[in-house]
Amino acid sequence: MSCRMSSIEALEGGLRLPLVEDFYTIQGEVYHSGKAAYFIRLGGCDVGCAWCDAKYTWNPRLYPPTPIDEIVERAVACEAQSIVITGGEPLLYPLAPLTDALKEQGLTIFLETSGSHPFSGTFDWVCLSPKQKSEPLDEAYARADELKVIIAEESQIEWAEQCRSRVGKHCRLYLQPEWSVSERVMPLIVEYAKRHPEWNISIQSHKYMHIP
Ligand code: SF4
Repeated sequence: MSCRMSSIEALEGGLRLPLVEDFYTIQGEVYHSGKAAYFIRLGGCDVGCAWCDAKYTWNPRLYPPTPIDEIVERAVACEAQSIVITGGEPLLYPLAPLTDALKEQGLTIFLETSGSHPFSGTFDWVCLSPKQKSEPLDEAYARADELKVIIAEESQIEWAEQCRSRVGKHCRLYLQPEWSVSERVMPLIVEYAKRHPEWNISIQSHKYMHIP
């Protein structure tokens, strides 16, 4: 993808990254929900989910190529023990310089990804949120610590099971209703999880807490 390549060239191999925003908050989703973490949101995504609640991140050219030293400096200036690298799709970029610098500060690093691009960087926890429009690479399934499948309609539960068949045994499994249709979808997910208790339900608790 030309957008990806041009971004990498302009970003000095990951020494700069197109930063949308960074902020200290509480994780709202899946296994680590409720824990404080510093979020680093990178711009750029080529997946194009119709229901995406971060469409503003899709064009990386809208965001300044920010030196990673600046990002790390802000992260260590607060009480954060954990970092969440999210997007957009963070794996569009070489992430090793950023994750190495964060590791030097003793921070725990979480990644949120669709898994549709090759991995780079070092992570303590990988949240794989697969998308049918751009399926994850095999390595993403292998590295997933948790699988978070967004459900906007009942037929996607079958897709979730296909994804489940490709992750490792240790991987935690979550179904999460798409926010705009959650009232309609939640009862379906609840009944499915009751019949298939290996699945957990994830809700976007940060939206109820009115935090980013
Ligand atoms: S992969 Fe994530 S950021 Fe990209 S379009 Fe889908 S929901 Fe939005």
